[in-house]
This record gives sequence, C-alpha cells and structure tokens, in this order.
Amino acid sequence: MKIIMLGAPGAGKGTQAKMLADKYEIPHISTGDIFRANIKNETELGKKAKEYMDKGLLVPDELTVNLVVDRIKQDDCSKGYILDGFPRTIPQAEALDKALSDLNDKLDYAINVEVPDENIVKRMSGRRACVGCGATYHIVHIPTKVEGICDRCGKELILRDDDKPETVEKRLKVYHEQTQPLIDYYQGKGILKEVDGTVDMKEVFDAIVNILEA
Ligand code: ADP
Ligand code: ADP
Ligand code: ZN
Repeated sequence: MKIIMLGAPGAGKGTQAKMLADKYEIPHISTGDIFRANIKNETELGKKAKEYMDKGLLVPDELTVNLVVDRIKQDDCSKGYILDGFPRTIPQAEALDKALSDLNDKLDYAINVEVPDENIVKRMSGRRACVGCGATYHIVHIPTKVEGICDRCGKELILRDDDKPETVEKRLKVYHEQTQPLIDYYQGKGILKEVDGTVDMKEVFDAIVNILEA
C-alpha cells in the first residue's frame, strides 16, 4: 500500500501517518522528520534546510526529491509506505510519479486531511514533539500521561521553532500557494480521498482505514 498524506501544516498528517504505519507495518516517511534529524546531526543538508524551515518556506525541490526517491527504493518499502509531507509542490509530485513509473509502480491513494485555517494556528501552538522518537502530542487535545514527557519513549517534549504563530501564518500561505494545487493534481489521477480532519483523531483514523479497506 503506497499512500501520500496531503493537508495543511498541522492538519494531523503526521499523527495519522504514524498510526497507519503501525497498523499496516509499513514505513512512515516524513520529509520534515528527515530534515529535522539532519539539522540535529548538523549535516550539510541540515544546514541548508534549516535556512528555509526557520522562515516557514519550503526546502528547494533539488534538496528534497532525491532524498525521497532513494528512500522508497529501500527494502523496507517493498510492501508499501506512507509519505507524510511529500510531495509538497507540483514538481515534486511529477518527480515522484516519474520515479515510480520507472519502477513500474504507482501510488494507491492520496489522502487529504481537511482542516480549515482558523483551527490550524491553535493546533500548532499546542503541538509538542518528542526529541527522542518524534511522536507528536497536543497540550489540550492529545495530552501525554505525564506533562512534558513522551508516552512512547520517556524523552522530553519540545515546541518546534517553526510552530510560532508568525511562522505558522507564513507556512499556511506557502501551503495554499504551493501545496494545495496537489489536491487537483491527484483528483485528476483518480486517487484523491478526502477526510474531515477536525474530528477526534481516532475518528479521522477510522475514516482513513475505511477508505483503504473499501
Ligand atoms: P508540518 O507537518 O507541520 O507540515 P513538516 O514536518 O512536514 O511540517 O515540515 C516542516 C518543514 O520542513 C516545512 O515547513 C518545510 O520547510 C520543510 N519540508 C518538509 N517537507 C518538505 C517538502 N516535501 N518540500 C519542501 N520542504 C519540506
Ligand atoms: P501535521 O503532520 O499535519 O503537521 P500533526 O499530526 O503534527 O500535523 O498534528 C498537529 C497538531 O494537532 C499536533 O499537536 C497533534 O497532536 C494535534 N492533532 C492531530 N490530530 C488531531 C485531531 N484530530 N484533533 C485535535 N488535535 C489533533
Ligand atoms: Zn518519544
């Protein structure tokens, strides 16, 4: 099963992608997580990516596409995968299609998690991410058992630098300009499925599973 998750920043793509990856035992590939790991390890890629991420801008396609294309060719992706946060531009989507068709392969679904802009800024200011395993929580909607500590691995939770309200506004603008056109793109390919992302995360998950198992 090869799936991509579409939706605004903070729509819940990562939350759902992790749950789907656990259920179907396929890798969750998040370009944001890959960039953040590179920043943490102070790699060349990390240094370049950070300049864009801190401003709420997209990392250029040249730095992003090959990373994903190489990743999906690895052995653990043979049964499928969930791409979260990629593609984010039409050129990225076209490059992915090209790479897949070269492998005689294709995507099964593009799942669009719909959440209106009004809800996004609130969600992002409450988002907390684990420094250890990358799990995400929300201080109100999805709290941890012990405040500030990851339920899964026990490490500390932080507020991401780019989740400040000013940067979130910028990221939303970038989303509407560069990423939203992918909805029509995948509609045109006949693989778009939409779910309401404003309801409880368990309900969103059930809606996605129903689509995948229909
Ligand atoms: P969110 O889940 O909140 O949308 P991500 O973790 O997916 O955030 O991405 C964080 C940042 O990493 C983005 O704002 C962007 O700068 C960069 N990034 C992630 N994926 C991509 C991509 N496919 N293309 C370009 N930039 C990306
Ligand atoms: P994305 O990967 O799309 O940027 P996340 O999965 O990181 O989004 O979710 C953004 C924030 O919203 C996180 O704090 C997360 O815990 C919270 N969240 C995710 N799904 C829901 C939901 N259905 N209802 C309320 N909050 C949610
Ligand atoms: Zn953790």
